Amino acid sequence: EREKLTRIKNTPAVTLDGQRIELLANIELPEDTLPALAVGTVGVGLFRTEFLFMGRGGHLPDEEEQYDAYRRAVEGMHGLPVTIRTVDVGADKPLDHHRRDEHLNPALGLRAIRWSLAEPAMFLTQLRAILRAAAHGRVNILIPMVAHLREIRQVHTMLAKAREQLDHRGAVYGPVRLGVMIEVPAAALAVRMFLPHVDFVSIGTNDLIQYALAIDRVDESVAHLYDPLHPAVLRMVADTIAAAREAGKPVSVCGEMAGDVTLTRLLLGLGLRSFSMHPTQILPVKQQVLRSDTRKLQAWAQQVVASDEPAALLVG
Ligand code: PEP
Ligand code: MG
Repeated sequence: EREKLTRIKNTPAVTLDGQRIELLANIELPEDTLPALAVGTVGVGLFRTEFLFMGRGGHLPDEEEQYDAYRRAVEGMHGLPVTIRTVDVGADKPLDHHRRDEHLNPALGLRAIRWSLAEPAMFLTQLRAILRAAAHGRVNILIPMVAHLREIRQVHTMLAKAREQLDHRGAVYGPVRLGVMIEVPAAALAVRMFLPHVDFVSIGTNDLIQYALAIDRVDESVAHLYDPLHPAVLRMVADTIAAAREAGKPVSVCGEMAGDVTLTRLLLGLGLRSFSMHPTQILPVKQQVLRSDTRKLQAWAQQVVASDEPAALLVG
């Protein structure tokens, strides 16, 4: 079976009805581009940059260190696109493992984009490093945990400021497209208002499930209630995909659902054409793609979303 999967490494991910599907990799370090390319990925859909920031006792990476890491990831992909997510610390990804977050609800606290906007010097440093790396290849910037349109406007302002700072010192930088994660239920419900202000969206199902169902994603005692197939979750995923397609903006899923082979057909049926996942899942998902006819999946996918027992419709 493994051997069979390796054989489709260079086969384009196209469905039986000719739909081209983008299978991207999630990475955490620049070196992860190697295993990603080894399975024939066509880009990085999620570079989780927080791993550069964590476990350093609060001493944050400076612009040069970040630029070096982002440039290595971009060059490592040899012209294929790289989506760099700005730092997403907090809750399950604490800056410093030795220091416990003393807030009662860290998942609802000052994390991700909230932290970036509260620390403008740190955020500008990261944006400058990403803009400079964009001179070396195709770069997208992805913003985590967006809940308010205001936050998107603030990011645009910060991006303009970062470019101004680079201009001022005559530094070289490249163009970027800006996207936001849809991973807070409020963002999924307000996505039509966000779309005119972004170039693309990426659905973070891991947090979307956590926040929709009020289930701590790392708490074992409630793990049995963590359900990607909950009708509320499916409805938000389906509607986000539909809204982005109507707006003519690219939409991707970069949470664990994208790498789950039992969900590939459902997501294809809902109109998803871009999936980002751990590199080990790329070939198994591609195998599902090659066997699928999206025309035959659409009506069924809508039935699954409308069902009070979606799991029962997925088997077989
Ligand atoms: C997600 O929330 O689905 C996601 C992709 O981001 P992370 O797992 O890094 O929170
Ligand atoms: Mg997330």
